Amino acid sequence: MRFNYQIIVIITALLFVLSSSLTLINYFASINSTTKHLKESALPLTVDNIYTEIQKNIIEPSLIASMMSSDTFMKDWLTHEEDDIEQVTRFLDTIQNKYKMYTTFLVSEKSQHYYTASGVLDKLSADKAHNQWYFKFKNSSKSHEINIDYNENIGDSLIMFINYKIFDDEYHMIGATGIGLKTSYINEMLKYFRLQYNFNVYLIDEQGEVVVSERSVNNLANISDISALKSQLSNIINKNNLLLEYNQNNNDYLLNAKYIPELDLYLIVEAKVDNFTASVKETFYLNVCISLIITLLIAVIIIFYVRSIHNKLNTLANTDPLTELANRRTFYNILEHSLLLTLRNNTPLSTLFIDIDNFKTINDTLGHDIGDKTLKSLAGILTSSIRKSDTVARWGGEEFIILLEDTDLAHANLIAEQLRSAVEKNVALKEITNKGVTISIGVTTANENDTVESLFKRIDNALYTAKNNGKNCIAVESE
Ligand code: GH3
Ligand code: MG
Ligand code: MG
Repeated sequence: MRFNYQIIVIITALLFVLSSSLTLINYFASINSTTKHLKESALPLTVDNIYTEIQKNIIEPSLIASMMSSDTFMKDWLTHEEDDIEQVTRFLDTIQNKYKMYTTFLVSEKSQHYYTASGVLDKLSADKAHNQWYFKFKNSSKSHEINIDYNENIGDSLIMFINYKIFDDEYHMIGATGIGLKTSYINEMLKYFRLQYNFNVYLIDEQGEVVVSERSVNNLANISDISALKSQLSNIINKNNLLLEYNQNNNDYLLNAKYIPELDLYLIVEAKVDNFTASVKETFYLNVCISLIITLLIAVIIIFYVRSIHNKLNTLANTDPLTELANRRTFYNILEHSLLLTLRNNTPLSTLFIDIDNFKTINDTLGHDIGDKTLKSLAGILTSSIRKSDTVARWGGEEFIILLEDTDLAHANLIAEQLRSAVEKNVALKEITNKGVTISIGVTTANENDTVESLFKRIDNALYTAKNNGKNCIAVESE
C-alpha cells in the first residue's frame, strides 16, 4: 500500500486558502475601517479643533484692537497734529505690556506715520511693498481685518495683525490701529497635530499660496505645486468644507479643507493614508506568517499522524497478527517477484512448506491457547533458523512456508532436515506442549516455467507425501 501524499497536499492547500482568505478579509476590513475613521472622524475633528483654537486666540486680541480704535485719546491725538509722540508711544506700550501683545501700532492717515511702542517706525508710502496692506485696507469696505504678514521692520517674522480703522466723528478714516501677534502658537499647533496625529496642517489663501505652515517641515509654496491638486484648486478654494482623496508619487492622501472667515484663509489638514494603515499592514504580514507556520505545522502533524496510521494498516494488511510473520498475501507477492528475479539472474530458488503434525490434538488436549503459543514459538524458531534474505510466512492454520533465495534443491533439503530436527528437539516447544512438536516439510525448487501456482501445487504435493510417509519427515518434489 503506497502512502498517498496528494490528500495531504490538498488539505494543506485548503487550510492555507482558508487562513489566507480570513487574513485577507480581516486586512481589507481593517484598512477600510481605518480609512473610514480617518475620513469621517479624525480629519474633520482635527479641522474643527484647529479652527476653535484659532478663534480662541483671535477673539481677545480682536477686542483689544477694537477698543484701541475707539479710544478717545487716540482719536484726539490724531486730530491734534500728532504733536507729543511720547504720549502715543506710552499708550501703545501700556497696551502692549498689559495684554502681552507682540506689538501694537498706530497709523496716521494724515502724516502716514507708523507708530509703535518705541516711536515712529516707518513713513508709509504706496510705493513700498510692505506698506501695501494699509492702502488695501483703507480702500476696502471692511472696518477691520486680520492679516498674516511678514514685517521686516519687526524682526522679519510671521505676524498675525488685527487691524482696525479709526474714524473721526464725521466717520472719516483718520488712521488704523491694532495689535500684532506672533504666529508661533499656530506653528506650535501645527507641530502638535503633526506629531500627535501625523497630519500635515497648513493655511492657504485664495490663490492657493501657503500662508501659514510649519516652515521647517513644509516647503510647499502653493497647493497647486501638488500636481494631483492643480485641477482641484477651485474645489478647495470654496467656502464649503471639502474632503478630497488624491494620489501623489504612488501615495494615497486624504485632504480636508475648511474656510476660516476670521483669517480669510483656508485651513488644510492632510493625511498620508499609509501612515495610518502601516500598523494594519504590519499586522497583516504577521498574520500571514503565523497562518503559514500554523498551516505548515498542521500539515506536518497530519503527515506524521496519517503515516503512522498508514504504517499500522500496512502492517495489519501484510502480517499475521498472531505470529507477526508475513501473511499469505505478502508471501505471494514476494514469491512472484523472486520468480522473476530467478529467471533473469538464473539463480536457484527453493521453497519449504511446513505443517505441524497432529496439531489438532494439541488444540484438543491442551487447549486453543497452548495451540497459539505453539504457533508463535514455532514462528520464532523458523525465523531465527533462516537467513535474513529468506522469507518465512504463515500460510494459514498450522502451515508455514519458507522462501529460500539462491538455494538449490540439495541445499534446501539440508535446511529442511535441520529445521525438522531443530523443531523436534526444541525445549521450549516441549515445555509448552509436554510432548514436543514435530513438523512435516514439503521441498521443491523453482524451474524456469514455474508460476506461483505451479510451484505451490508441487510443494503441496510434497507435503502430502511427507504426511503419507508417516509425518515428522521431509518429502521432495523435484522440478
Ligand atoms: P496433520 O498431522 O494431518 O496435519 O493433522 P493436523 O491435526 O495437524 O491437521 P488438521 O488440518 O486436521 O488440523 C489443523 C488444526 O489447526 C485445525 C484448527 O483448529 C487448528 N488451527 C488453525 N488455526 C489455528 C490457530 O490460529 N490457533 C490454534 N490454536 N489452532 C489453529
Ligand atoms: Mg494442515
Ligand atoms: Mg497439521
